[in-house]
Amino acid sequence: MISGRDSEIREGSDLGAAVPKMASVADLPQALAAWRQALGPAHVLTDETALAVARTATFPTTQRVPAIIRPANRSEIQECMRIANASRTPVYPVSTGKNWGYGSRVPARDSCVIMDLSRLNRILDYDENLAYVRVETGVTFRQLFDFLTQKQSNLMMSVTGSTPDSSVVANALERGHGTGPYGDRFAHTCNLEVVLPTGECLTTGLGRFPDAAAASVSRWGVGPHLDGLFSQSNLGIVTSMTIWLSPKPGYLQVCFLGINDPCRLTELLDALRVLRSQELLRWPLHVWNDLKMLSLARQYPWKESGGRTPLSPQLRECIRDDYLWGSAWTGSVGLCAASKEQGQAERCAIERILGSKVDKLVFFDGVE
Ligand SMILES: Cc1cc2nc3c(=O)[nH]c(=O)nc-3n(C[C@H](O)[C@H](O)[C@H](O)COP(=O)(O)OP(=O)(O)OC[C@H]3O[C@@H](n4cnc5c(N)ncnc54)[C@H](O)[C@@H]3O)c2cc1C
Repeated sequence: MISGRDSEIREGSDLGAAVPKMASVADLPQALAAWRQALGPAHVLTDETALAVARTATFPTTQRVPAIIRPANRSEIQECMRIANASRTPVYPVSTGKNWGYGSRVPARDSCVIMDLSRLNRILDYDENLAYVRVETGVTFRQLFDFLTQKQSNLMMSVTGSTPDSSVVANALERGHGTGPYGDRFAHTCNLEVVLPTGECLTTGLGRFPDAAAASVSRWGVGPHLDGLFSQSNLGIVTSMTIWLSPKPGYLQVCFLGINDPCRLTELLDALRVLRSQELLRWPLHVWNDLKMLSLARQYPWKESGGRTPLSPQLRECIRDDYLWGSAWTGSVGLCAASKEQGQAERCAIERILGSKVDKLVFFDGVE
């Protein structure tokens, strides 16, 4: 996150000129003192144990992290950004920092102070009839699940394949994907509240009008649609957003399919495309190769391979037989229907179209 003044890009200017000056050693103590005053000393961390964790990802990193700041609400974030601006200190926000495989909580560039937003963990609004919930950015999937369970809600959120302790908002901002009809998570959000690098705050969509009744159910509002600016970007810190929820299906099945010969992939994808266009596959569908599937099922076979990488074709085939019915490519998709009758009719249609395109096709019944 870069201060607005420093990151300004003028028309015709070269992009390199927009790269901000990094915090100098002299600037940082001044910023730390101001943050301690704004947040309280307990929420400005500079101890080596915390910083070492913050520098750790699933792969080696070289970025230095001088401090972690932990604001609790929007106005503290705004104050933190004003301080960052004044001291020209770059800030990198994380919500729960579980961006595993993509860098965890390690900032994208060197010498950024991490802004840990996990203290913003309130569920701000919920409407069972209009099927939405409004959450702050530190709210986790587990917390939202517990909340809906406690409310005996008939609604569901799209489920993540990552840890339940990751952030619903951060995952949506990263355009994460999940299981369920609203698995394209960012496509089912609206009304973002965002603190800009200058410390100013804006709300997207109809949320910018005080008390707009449709703010949580209408994505577009009026005028240019801004939400995308804050997804996979460093243009603002999203403090809260509205997440749409889907009704729990009346009848749920899960379908697994597999092909043994990778040459059949094209005709399989063509058939899946037909099913999708006929709206028989409404949930997000995954089609993964054996290496991706095996990495979910087990650790690298160090023992069987004698410590060698990469996997030999023979060993790969052997493990594939053990874990994946011999499939080189495997697909999985949830099938939701209003009733058992509808679900079974759709299953017959899917079997008819896919039957000759796959080597394995298995359905599991879920809840009714
Ligand atoms: C085994 C495994 C399975 C996984 N399965 C899935 C899966 O099914 N679907 C999926 O999408 N991902 C998956 N992941 C990837 C990852 O774990 C998730 O995407 C996770 O939700 C990201 O971590 P987080 O929610 O804690 O976000 P964070 O680490 O807090 O943030 C992620 C990114 O968003 C930015 N950001 C965070 N909060 C804000 C904010 N408020 N304003 C502006 N920017 C912000 C951060 O700067 C960072 O770049 C998986 C990872 C593993 C290891």
